[in-house]
Amino acid sequence: MSIATLLSQSRGEDRCADIIDMSAHQTALDLTIALLAHQRKKFSKRLYANGECHFCGEDIAHANALFCDSYCCEDYERLQKQKEISGLM
Ligand SMILES: [Zn+2]
Repeated sequence: MSIATLLSQSRGEDRCADIIDMSAHQTALDLTIALLAHQRKKFSKRLYANGECHFCGEDIAHANALFCDSYCCEDYERLQKQKEISGLM
């Protein structure tokens, strides 16, 4: 196998890895945007983004986020349902 062939295969693998990395980043970004859109739609009537998670109080890096992660969002939702059922809301 020639050096040129090895180099071209190596470059191809690098490009493939770059494409896979870019795809993974894009997927993560798409999921974050979808989560934020879901949170805004679901809680926009009751909550506003204030830089802190509305469940645990942690600082949030993203300015428009209501919760630090999906677990806090689910826990908040569960707590609100429990409050509604028990008549506290
Ligand atoms: Zn949180």
